[in-house]
Amino acid sequence: MGWNLQVGKIEEQYLTEQQIWKTFNVFFSSQSKNTTTYKFGLIKSLIENLYNVNENLELNYDFLFESFAKIYWNLVIHHNLRQVNHSLKSSEIEKVLINFCEKFRIPSDFRFDRLSVTLQLELVQKVKTRAKRYVIGALYGDSEGVIYEFDLKREYMRLNSSIYSFMLKYQKVLTYLTNYHLALFLEKHNKGEDTAHMLMKVENVSKRSSLDQFYRILISFGENTCFYCGKLLDKRSAAHVDHFIPWSFVQTDHLWNLVLACRTCNISKKDRIAKPIFLNALIERNQKLIEMEREPIRRDLEIYNSEKLEKLYHYSIMNGFRNLWSP
Ligand SMILES: [Zn+2]
Repeated sequence: MGWNLQVGKIEEQYLTEQQIWKTFNVFFSSQSKNTTTYKFGLIKSLIENLYNVNENLELNYDFLFESFAKIYWNLVIHHNLRQVNHSLKSSEIEKVLINFCEKFRIPSDFRFDRLSVTLQLELVQKVKTRAKRYVIGALYGDSEGVIYEFDLKREYMRLNSSIYSFMLKYQKVLTYLTNYHLALFLEKHNKGEDTAHMLMKVENVSKRSSLDQFYRILISFGENTCFYCGKLLDKRSAAHVDHFIPWSFVQTDHLWNLVLACRTCNISKKDRIAKPIFLNALIERNQKLIEMEREPIRRDLEIYNSEKLEKLYHYSIMNGFRNLWSP
């Protein structure tokens, strides 16, 4: 089994937690030969997209490789980090990103989410074409086909259901492990950085520079008060876009997880989960957004359902967010 497979079937349907830990242990150990950082990038993208799967646990490549492209943009363009274990070669993904920036004369301090939608789509397509070839089959082979099945033509992967539950349950630990091993690899093949600094960079590669576009969407849906205390948000500077489930846990920006909050509530809440009463309020708010049937309805609302949000709330508490906040 290897990187050049076209289709990969799931080898086993049910796996115990012990078996899954074993798979991940092999993946993070020296038994797993990594010539590039691709597998770490793919695991990070999978974790980011755990709530983007459909009811059959299928994830489409557009979601997956948007995360992947954003992560590599930050690693390669923004932080100028080499992604291979060879001093003279570059990985295919690095080449795609660097050529793209040269073609459109994009400076290296430009953030991914500041690119126009057209440019983002073009880049994601290019990254997807390469990653389909080099990334999907590699992790599949490394895990002996237990994590997901995939079909490069139909452009989807379907997660094994025991793996899916496992990843939700241990999301935080898996994120730490992936970031740590990615930082170790990068430290080894890039000069002048220690692990602590590298880890800081790696932990933030999924972060957007601005949530402005979400502010505009929420305001256009008529939200003009603080979701938590009800204070009127009469100007842009008074409104903060808040991740209801903290960003440190979801590491992604879904409209259904974003609310407008006043400065006081946003700062006081910090990296905490709000009390269940706010979960119910958010479920209601999201239902309202869906029923308005208005553009811009983003893709993430199309695959949203309230069970997903309840699950995320439940799993975030299980992953250590125990100190419930209220204003
Ligand atoms: Zn407030």
